[in-house]
Amino acid sequence: PRLSMSDLPQPAPEHCPGPASEQAGNADACAGCPNQNVCKTAPKGPDPDLPQIMEHLSEIKHKILVLSGKGGVGKSTISSQLAFALATKESEGSGADDADDQGGPQVGLLDIDICGPSIPRIMGLEGRGVHQTNTGWEPVQVEDMNLSVMSVGFLMTTVDEAVIWRGPNKNGLIKQFVRDVDWGPLDYLIIDTPPGTSDEHLSITTYLKPAGITGAVIVTTPQEVSLSDVRKEINFCKKVGIPILGVIENMSGFVCRKCGTETKIFFPSTGGAKKMCEELNVRFLGAVPIDPLIARNCDEGKSFVKQCPDSPTAQVYKSIFDTIVSLVEKP
Ligand code: ADP
Repeated sequence: PRLSMSDLPQPAPEHCPGPASEQAGNADACAGCPNQNVCKTAPKGPDPDLPQIMEHLSEIKHKILVLSGKGGVGKSTISSQLAFALATKESEGSGADDADDQGGPQVGLLDIDICGPSIPRIMGLEGRGVHQTNTGWEPVQVEDMNLSVMSVGFLMTTVDEAVIWRGPNKNGLIKQFVRDVDWGPLDYLIIDTPPGTSDEHLSITTYLKPAGITGAVIVTTPQEVSLSDVRKEINFCKKVGIPILGVIENMSGFVCRKCGTETKIFFPSTGGAKKMCEELNVRFLGAVPIDPLIARNCDEGKSFVKQCPDSPTAQVYKSIFDTIVSLVEKP
């Protein structure tokens, strides 16, 4: 069945009778609620596969969602660079002979942007496929790293194939990503989501919640048009009980390499993400400038931080990723 708010483990609105309630959709408080019809007709009770999924995910220590209100703000870029950075973390300067030492954190990257999967290209894995083994779907491995990746892009036969999915199909696929993929024990699973708050967000929240969601990283540009959608995203997290690790302002300005002048290309007319975070009492994780080398390395499927370790933008990334690690690892 198509997932709806009624599948969420913790429906929150103050006067909502709860989607699993017999009164769901029929109580006074339901009048005018956009989910009224869904609640009225949806089968009551949780998905029967939830215990199996929870068991399957129990070996994954931290599950981090990367969210944005709008598309094109750099969410997949942040997801991929965070995954690269985590997977190479402890091998950096550890004295190991090569990067594929098995000592560093084990990292997974799950792309649930089903209609626009860009992760295979950004991770340099375009054309790779997923194999079924007797332990489940085998995620695609990044060479020389403790990093495995899953995306619907790996299931497509051609790169330009158009995928038209309706809600129930998306839910079914996301369920397979969390139930059937053999992630193995992981320190971090980074989940790149589509923009906004849609079926995919409800599905992934439903499936991850019983095993615990560590938190969400929210990505925005400084523009009000992006920030206004991020406020909705923050409300979504609060409503469904996802801890917010913080907000990253991406494409925060452009510094000319020749003259050093900074141009605010996406003008922060309402004060940018930092001010919004202060107003909403959410952590501001940092501001990443527009840097052509990010776009270039992503198109080439490379880790920007690894390729350009000394660039000021790489330093910003490092400091943001270190903050995320310290937040999730804190006792
Ligand atoms: P989203 O996942 O939010 O749709 P993407 O991560 O695909 O957005 O980013 C959109 C485009 O912007 C991509 O071409 C990406 O390479 C580029 N990009 C993202 N962040 C930056 C940045 N800080 N500087 C320059 N280009 C960027």
